[in-house]
Amino acid sequence: MSATTDFDAVVIGSGITGGFAAKELTEKGLTVLVLERGKPLRHRTDYTTEHLPTWRMPDRNLPNRELYAKDYYIQRQARGFDYTTLNFWNNDRENPYVQAPDQPFNWFRGGIVGGRSILWGRQCYRWSDLDFGANRRDGHGNDWPIRYADLKNWYSYVERIIACRVTPRIWHNCRMANSSRPWLSRRSKRRSSRASSRAFRAGGSPSAVSLI
Ligand SMILES: Cc1cc2nc3c(=O)[nH]c(=O)nc-3n(C[C@H](O)[C@H](O)[C@H](O)COP(=O)(O)OP(=O)(O)OC[C@H]3O[C@@H](n4cnc5c(N)ncnc54)[C@H](O)[C@@H]3O)c2cc1C
Repeated sequence: MSATTDFDAVVIGSGITGGFAAKELTEKGLTVLVLERGKPLRHRTDYTTEHLPTWRMPDRNLPNRELYAKDYYIQRQARGFDYTTLNFWNNDRENPYVQAPDQPFNWFRGGIVGGRSILWGRQCYRWSDLDFGANRRDGHGNDWPIRYADLKNWYSYVERIIACRVTPRIWHNCRMANSSRPWLSRRSKRRSSRASSRAFRAGGSPSAVSLI
């Protein structure tokens, strides 16, 4: 690796957002610097708890209440927080943030290279127009300057790269899109197809719900 300090772009944070931006920029020929505040994490070799049976974990994976209360008082409330993922979460004592007393907010954060992409549940949802308009209808914040039509092709672009597979999780406002090699049973597919048709006939907007 060359020791250049001459970069075309600097990306702050190596999560899904920053990581993808860095990938795209690099592939377009730019020299990119990614800055990440979290600990280094080597793919595979640093997943030290992967496939570890419960009985091989400290206290059989029962919560270490003292440690969690001291260092992970926010993160410990997240689904998926336990000994198996402990190394991947933000240390709340070292990285505190201010919360308004009347508006508490649990900020679940990764503390490693890759950010929360290391922790996420692999469900990939497309937002529909119903979602983009929800806060305006409810009177919160600013209206999104974009709608589903603006993102549709980009959803497809990303889904191809991350290898999404469409599944039959259909909301009332969604129909399946971008179907490529679903991995579900025939029965599930039939159900999915019926639910999808019903939803679309009911006036749903085109949106996909996918799993990797
Ligand atoms: C347990 C869990 C399960 C989830 N499951 C799903 C799911 O199934 N489907 C789904 O769509 N979403 C899911 N999510 C949410 C999803 O993971 C996040 O929305 C997504 O990963 C956020 O990506 P990001 O790049 O915006 O932020 P992050 O992944 O948080 O990346 C931000 C990065 O920036 C770094 N950083 C922050 N400040 C600085 C700084 N000043 N300098 C340098 N670096 C900095 C951080 O360390 C971090 O690595 C889940 C989240 C969690 C925690």
